[in-house]
Amino acid sequence: MKSYFRKEIDAIAGYTPGEQPKMANLIKLNTNENPYPPSPQVLEVLRNFDPARLRRYPDPTADELRDLFAASVDMKRENVIIGNGSDDLLTMIFRAFTSPELPVAIFEPTYSLYPVLAAMQGAKVIKIALDPTDFSYPDDAVQKAGNANLLIITRPNAPTGNCASRELVRNICRDFDGIVLIDEAYSDFAPDNCADLAAKFDNVLVMRTFSKGSSMAGLRLGYAFGSENLISGLMKLKDSYNADMLSQELAKANFLDAEYREKCVAQIIADRDKLAAGLNKLGFKVIPSAANFLFAAPPDGDGEKCFTFLRERAVIVRYFPGEVTGSYLRITIGTPAENERLLAVLQERFSK
Ligand SMILES: *Cc1c(COP(=O)(O)O)cnc(C)c1O
Repeated sequence: MKSYFRKEIDAIAGYTPGEQPKMANLIKLNTNENPYPPSPQVLEVLRNFDPARLRRYPDPTADELRDLFAASVDMKRENVIIGNGSDDLLTMIFRAFTSPELPVAIFEPTYSLYPVLAAMQGAKVIKIALDPTDFSYPDDAVQKAGNANLLIITRPNAPTGNCASRELVRNICRDFDGIVLIDEAYSDFAPDNCADLAAKFDNVLVMRTFSKGSSMAGLRLGYAFGSENLISGLMKLKDSYNADMLSQELAKANFLDAEYREKCVAQIIADRDKLAAGLNKLGFKVIPSAANFLFAAPPDGDGEKCFTFLRERAVIVRYFPGEVTGSYLRITIGTPAENERLLAVLQERFSK
């Protein structure tokens, strides 16, 4: 049958999200969700929400949220754009800055959605390899990015969990002739972040999400900081009502309860380090992580076999086929009980 799709769409397989299986008693450590619920304040707002309000459209630009986020990093409303999850912002950013003439540069391995968005634009992807043994960053990234118009730094990186040094990121922002997007989906779990670089450099966007540190992946809310010029340009590409009324209100309540969020994050960080030690003891190679997951290679270097072994025992992690990534598993930090269960199952296979 004749295809009526653009050739770029026919050519792509589409993004494969981590599975959301329906099995009972499953230990789900595959999509980097937070194991803890959002702030109790969120429940309070939900309880008191009058459904009659839903007949109205929401604030199209979510200005209350923009003010809140801006204030948290000493910027202004005009420096913030809201997205229906940060994936929505990524769609806008790829539409704005990539095309068949305007390539994107990414590090490899990284978030596997980026190449899919590039393919939709018919844009070339320039891949800059991370060191295959410790996933550290090359010093000459700007040279390697060639004529790219957009360069993405995921910090902390996914699926590897490590961070590019702030010095390197700052130098890239200064030297790269194009847009630098710093994807901070996991920055809640890292010792520092790069929000200040969005204030300092006109070509820099810093993007955050409520899906990981803020326990609201089901809600879909993300935001990005940047110069007024970049943000007003991106606003032109935004769906009019891309953040719904409930998301705006619940995100606000959650954001304001920083104490609760920080407590959950601190617990996850402590459990991450405990799980890393447990995996090390079983002979795994564990990449030091600044995120809410670990990238770890089983002793036999066979990520796929280990993934299947865990899956058959109702523990779901993420496996990325590939020459470098195929030796590893990406394991989301769960509750202490979930992490212990994971270790107990792995012990059956790898105890010495
Ligand atoms: C999870 C994730 C996102 C997407 O987050 P949403 O706000 O849920 O769309 C973006 N970038 C990276 C690197 C992620 O891991």
